[in-house]
Amino acid sequence: CVPGHGVLYARLMPTFSSLRIRGPLAEAIAARGYETATEVQVAVLEQRCQGYDLLVSSQTGSGKTAAFGIPAIEKTDPNLRSAQVLILCPTRELAVQVSEEIHKLALFKRGINALPIYGGQSYERQFYGLKQGAQIVIGTPGRVMDHLRRGTLSLVALKALVLDEADEMLNMGFAEDIDWIFDQTPPERQVALFSATMPPGI
Ligand code: AMP
Repeated sequence: CVPGHGVLYARLMPTFSSLRIRGPLAEAIAARGYETATEVQVAVLEQRCQGYDLLVSSQTGSGKTAAFGIPAIEKTDPNLRSAQVLILCPTRELAVQVSEEIHKLALFKRGINALPIYGGQSYERQFYGLKQGAQIVIGTPGRVMDHLRRGTLSLVALKALVLDEADEMLNMGFAEDIDWIFDQTPPERQVALFSATMPPGI
C-alpha cells in the first residue's frame, strides 16, 4: 500500500516445484524461463492427478499451451512407442506453435517424440514420424482423420485427448470430424477442452 497512491495488488502465483513438477520437466520449464505458473496452469496442474475430464476457459496468451503440455509430457511413457496424447488444433499455424512449445518442454525427458500433423505438409514426413512411434501428436482434424483412416495413426494407447481452441474448431465446422475422432479413442481416455468462449456446442 503506497500512501496517496491507492493500493497495489500483487497476486503471488505458485512456483512449479510447489505444484510438484519435478525432474526433467522442471529443468525444461526453468530453461524456458518460466518461474511461476499462470492462473490456467495452476488450475490444471493442481488437480492433474485426479484424472478428471476438463473444460477450461482460456484465452490466447494465458499460458494454456504449457497448461496442457506439462501434464501431457508427464503422463507420456517414453518406452511405449505409440500415440498417448492427441492434441487437436483448428489451424496448422497453431499446431506448429503448440508442437514447438511441447518440444521445448520435453527437451530433457528422454525418448519423448512430439509430432505435428497437418494438411499441406508432406505425408512422407508424417508417415515417418508416426512409424517412429510419436507419443504426443498435435494435429488439425482433417489430417488426423486421414491418418486414422489409413491406419498410419492408432489411438488404442491414447491416455488423453486435448482440444485447443475448441470454440474455434466448432466455428470452423469441425464438429462432425471431432465427434468422429472421439469415437476412435478408448473410452477411458481423459478429455480436456480449452476454449476462450463457451458456446452451447462445447
Ligand atoms: P500461450 O497462451 O500458451 O500461447 O502462452 C503465451 C505466452 O506465455 C507464451 O509466450 C509462453 O511462452 C508464455 N508463458 C507460458 N507460461 C508461462 C509462465 N509460467 N511464465 C512465463 N511465461 C509463460
